[in-house]
Amino acid sequence: MAAEIQPKPQTRTPVLLNKIEASQDVVNTAVIIPKEDGVISVSDDRTIRIWLKRDSGQYWPSIYHTMSASCSCMSFNPETRRLSVGMENGTISVSDNFCSFNMHSCMAHQGKVTVVLFVLEMEWVLSTGQDKNLTWHCSESGTQLGLYRTIAWVSGLQFDVETRHAFVGDHSGQVTILKLEQDSCSLVTTFKGHTGNVTALCWDPAQRVLFSGSSDHSIIMWDIGGRKGTAIELQGHNDKVQGLCYAPHTRQLISCSSDGGIVIWNMDVTRQETPEWLDSDSCQKCEQPFFWNFKQMWDSKKIGLRQHHCRKCGQAVCGKCSAKRSTIPLMGFEFEVRVCDSCHESITEEDRAPTATFHDSKHSIVYMHYEPTTGWLLTSGADKVVKVRQTRPDTLSKSVPDYRGAMRSRGEFEGTTV
Ligand SMILES: [Zn+2]
Ligand SMILES: [Zn+2]
Repeated sequence: MAAEIQPKPQTRTPVLLNKIEASQDVVNTAVIIPKEDGVISVSDDRTIRIWLKRDSGQYWPSIYHTMSASCSCMSFNPETRRLSVGMENGTISVSDNFCSFNMHSCMAHQGKVTVVLFVLEMEWVLSTGQDKNLTWHCSESGTQLGLYRTIAWVSGLQFDVETRHAFVGDHSGQVTILKLEQDSCSLVTTFKGHTGNVTALCWDPAQRVLFSGSSDHSIIMWDIGGRKGTAIELQGHNDKVQGLCYAPHTRQLISCSSDGGIVIWNMDVTRQETPEWLDSDSCQKCEQPFFWNFKQMWDSKKIGLRQHHCRKCGQAVCGKCSAKRSTIPLMGFEFEVRVCDSCHESITEEDRAPTATFHDSKHSIVYMHYEPTTGWLLTSGADKVVKVRQTRPDTLSKSVPDYRGAMRSRGEFEGTTV
């Protein structure tokens, strides 16, 4: 899966709107508060900060709260303004109103809380920890309702309210689907498709599609609603996938990786599954034996060759019969991959048109949040900076001039293709 050429950025969005020099330490999670025009950040420096935008166009820390330990994760519900924060010491703190910080806490895990998820409809706080436990607590009383032991650390957690299914992505590379009841749960199934850790999950309840991102650089789209077991691979990152968000209004998947890459995928495109790799003892094109096929090598007095696979047809081929490379966007390959000679001929220029756009966030992303009502995309970097971008070109004509003015005056304008 060698990635040789990265396609060039296709569009002017996302545009950088604002930068927040957020913290003494890395911001592990930050979210946009849509109505208040603000940002909440939680950090390794033990702080929860609320940043509200001032008339100058800059975000200023308006509320600041210091916790007992590093804050590793957070879940914010904009409707109820409820804030749930998971900490390094295993505690989860819940505040009914993020401005008041009248918080109640519970000890949910032995060791760091890795993901916290507030489910309004159930009044549940779901969380996973370094102790490999998935727990759910009553968000009102803080009482633990149930527990499930995962096989590895969890870094992706999503919940479908309608069917009460929890999707749990772990460091062994698998996604576990659990059906949660008030105080018990049952294992529904597991998905295995990644060769690295599952690092991010995103659930689109409308189309009933689950996206998983991995340290193997790939994203898999699991079509659960389609009931055909379709799993489409999306290859567009050169590093560990760090975040996944689905933008329902524009039908786009937004993914980011730790090298700072942001990819915006057009999900209106119908993509195909990649083929199974076929087994053969000789090249399925020129019939030359592969190197372990001693009998044919001896009989035909030929040298054994290395086996490769065409990414389009899945045939086992030798290097000579698969010397060319091509992108295959309709199979999720936005980077050039190995194809056999006949497949290379069959791929037209039109087929090669990218189905995603590529952007550089210019920082190593640790967390990403997308706010659907405004189209704003937030990234938090290892550089301790939080950046807010506008992803929707339709709203740009309104929002850009005054933001740009504000940033030019501070000398922080990054350019339009960022
Ligand atoms: Zn061959
Ligand atoms: Zn082929």
